Amino acid sequence: MIRDDAHCLDTIVVAKKLKTDLNQGLTVDEAKRRLEDIGPNALPEEKRRGLAELFLDQFKDFLIILLIAAAAVSGALGEYVDAAAIVVIITINAVIGLVQEYKAEKAIEALKSLAAAHALVKRDGAVIEIPTSELVPGDLVLLDAGRIVPADLRLIEGTMLKVQEAALTGESIPVDKRPDKVFASNAPIGDRQNMVFKGTQVVLGRGLGIVVATGAATELGRIAGLIAEQKDTKTPLQKRLSAFGRQLGLIALAICAIVFVIGLLRGEDLLLMFLTSVSLAVAAVPEALPALAAIALALGAKRMVQINALVRRLPAVETLGSVTAICTDKTGTLTENSMRCERFWTVQTSDALEALPISAVEEDIAWRWLAVAMALCNDASLVRNSIMGDPTETALLAALDETGLDHEAIRKTYERMAEIPFDSSRRLMTTVHTMPHGGLVSFTKGAVESVLACSSAALVKNGKTALDSKLILTKAEQISESGLRVLAFAMKHHDAVPANLSIVENELVFLGLVGLMDPPRPEAFDAIRQCKKAGITPIMITGDHPATALAIARRLGIAQDRREVMTGDELSELTLDRYETMAKEIKVYARVSPEQKLKIVMALQDRGEFVAMTGDGVNDAPALKKADIGVAMGVTGTDVAKEAADMILLDDNFATIVKAVHEGRRIYDNIRKFIKYILASNSGEIWTIFLAPFLGLPIPLLPIHILWINLVTDGLPGLALAVEPGEKDVMERPPRPPKEGILAQGLGIHAVWVGLLMAFVCLCLQAASIYLSDMHWQTMVFTVLCLSQMGHVLAIRSEWQSLFSQGLCSNLSLAGAVTLTIVLQLATVYVPLLQSVFKTQALGPWELIICLAASSLVFWAVEAEKMLKRRKRCI
Ligand code: ATP
Repeated sequence: MIRDDAHCLDTIVVAKKLKTDLNQGLTVDEAKRRLEDIGPNALPEEKRRGLAELFLDQFKDFLIILLIAAAAVSGALGEYVDAAAIVVIITINAVIGLVQEYKAEKAIEALKSLAAAHALVKRDGAVIEIPTSELVPGDLVLLDAGRIVPADLRLIEGTMLKVQEAALTGESIPVDKRPDKVFASNAPIGDRQNMVFKGTQVVLGRGLGIVVATGAATELGRIAGLIAEQKDTKTPLQKRLSAFGRQLGLIALAICAIVFVIGLLRGEDLLLMFLTSVSLAVAAVPEALPALAAIALALGAKRMVQINALVRRLPAVETLGSVTAICTDKTGTLTENSMRCERFWTVQTSDALEALPISAVEEDIAWRWLAVAMALCNDASLVRNSIMGDPTETALLAALDETGLDHEAIRKTYERMAEIPFDSSRRLMTTVHTMPHGGLVSFTKGAVESVLACSSAALVKNGKTALDSKLILTKAEQISESGLRVLAFAMKHHDAVPANLSIVENELVFLGLVGLMDPPRPEAFDAIRQCKKAGITPIMITGDHPATALAIARRLGIAQDRREVMTGDELSELTLDRYETMAKEIKVYARVSPEQKLKIVMALQDRGEFVAMTGDGVNDAPALKKADIGVAMGVTGTDVAKEAADMILLDDNFATIVKAVHEGRRIYDNIRKFIKYILASNSGEIWTIFLAPFLGLPIPLLPIHILWINLVTDGLPGLALAVEPGEKDVMERPPRPPKEGILAQGLGIHAVWVGLLMAFVCLCLQAASIYLSDMHWQTMVFTVLCLSQMGHVLAIRSEWQSLFSQGLCSNLSLAGAVTLTIVLQLATVYVPLLQSVFKTQALGPWELIICLAASSLVFWAVEAEKMLKRRKRCI
């Protein structure tokens, strides 16, 4: 098999065996055929639950099993109608659960497929991007820093290629790859330096390889079965809800026992008391809350894609609302990343020029080499008349175009022989070229301090001169102060390509500076304002010059003063303790290397901040993982960064993070409303049944009523709360403390008093009806309890705003759910068939009016509570 001996064969032999053209790659048709033959390049996944399985899972709940047992007991004792009714209610409940869970699973699946990785392949001679699952043996795959290797590849080319193979070999130091070597057939995986393996990470350099194995046939596929999958998919909220449910369960058990015993003592029927207690237990334990919260989060995550925020880990949706600091990159996130060269300077120029001086390019060697360097030390390329590549580099080519200089002709004259790719830690990039009349020349570009550190002279019109670093740094600072990013250029002549490329970058001759403008994104201004209002501190972290960073930060309103700026050098000199005391003041970090982002996150977290951090490169991964919410760039981000992140910005836009926070807060608010609704409803049912015997009243509701209210009428409006639009003040209040309990902000007290009020209304009505010897008291209590809950759900749509100012139409789903529930409830009262199941009687018009009036009390009471809240706010 080729996959086992590719490392001992020459690439030409491998290509021949795999029937691939090393220049053109596979043809599209051949690739399609192979994909059909071999199957997708994916590791075998755990089987997904089918519809039937999902449906059956709905019955796994302990309380539901108890209910089924109760139905069986009723049936055995000849109470067929009761038994059948319980089964029907459980089934309706299961169907509602199934539909929701199915929707949630679909949502998560859709998110997964959106987050799927892509690979660059050469097919039919063209480089195209395809989902990694479509790779086939024989494909030519391009690799670059930050990419996760998509399949097992035999390398054909590699420039400074370093791969982190810990996922496969456990070795944490990145391995240098050597495509030109051939290894013995028994060489261990870790020593096969001419191969790269699926799942490992390219940390540096570039390469080209030919796919020798895909999917389960890869080395990773072979050991995949051995890796125990970590599968903790529960969000913190779900965990808290489960624990809370268990506590309530214990209390409920005690209540049920009391109700059961009191009932028996009062001489009630044993079966009736058994069913009542079981139904009450179902009512008391909010078993479904964790599942429903997960559904709300999953559906929320699906909606977030529409605002370009792709959530990779569900807990992020929930915790977004707690973010107190957003650490963001500048370039492309706060700015448009559409660069334009606006300043040009060589040592002899007094003021930087606004365009490349074409006459000087012909006469002055400093200007000429600067122009040549702009064309050559540059990976942007001309594809069908448009310039493609990194915006900094495309801007350089565009500037040459504007001056009328032909960069393609320059590139033909000076052929590229070697390169040291740009690396944001070194902030340098170098390319080595042949000279038309023999010899070699290298060009280096990068941050001004980095280039100066490798330079020993400068070029002027007449030749080399001594290097005046101070003058150059001052000039760079001046250019930066207007918000431009500054690139410095330098060159060096060589006789031959040195064996060790790193020595190319010393004793350079400085050529000049280019200042590039990258305007702030228009939407960033408003997003920053919103952040501040919402109690979130925006913090800029950039590799750029401090003056450039401060100029942009000032414009955006992130910082005003130089004292709010810290550079990477200053940061590295501080101990973590010392830095933590200063961290509060710092709003801009400049010339920071990605590794330092980790220190920033840790310090902020130690100060009690809840941090969202953006990143795109390989080196950003540790900080993204450490941050409370790691945010990767979708467009410019590497696979490694995306893999480490909780959320991906599909448009790389800072404003999207703020929108996501808004959305996260809204979703969490809605989950809280929904918990509030369910808890208050349940407490209403329990108080009603629990207190009745103490007041000398018969048990007000039949088991079937409790189940109906709990499993059917409770569920529909509760779910519609999930689509409630955000509160008006959603971004005007401080972030929620991340450890805040479920019952915080008065939720627990609310559930208790609303429940008591419902019980009070029901029991008064029951007592009055019995006193007036009205035979319909039970139907009335049943109806009032259900309708009170409808009033409650409408009133808690907002924490403080009145329903009248919100309007019913602002959540049509809820209006629909409430209407449907009322219709269903009236059906149980007026449809003869249902009357016999629910043991209800048709209510007369007055009785119905009394029921409506009594049940509206809860609505008015909660509206009054909100009015008090509004008053308090105004004070
Ligand atoms: P961020 O995205 O974090 O705001 P950044 O993208 O500006 O920061 P880097 O890309 O690390 O940060 O760039 C840091 C510095 O490196 C720049 O100020 C510039 O001087 C230099 N630089 C950027 N791109 C290149 C490049 N392609 N070649 C050479 N030097 C570059």
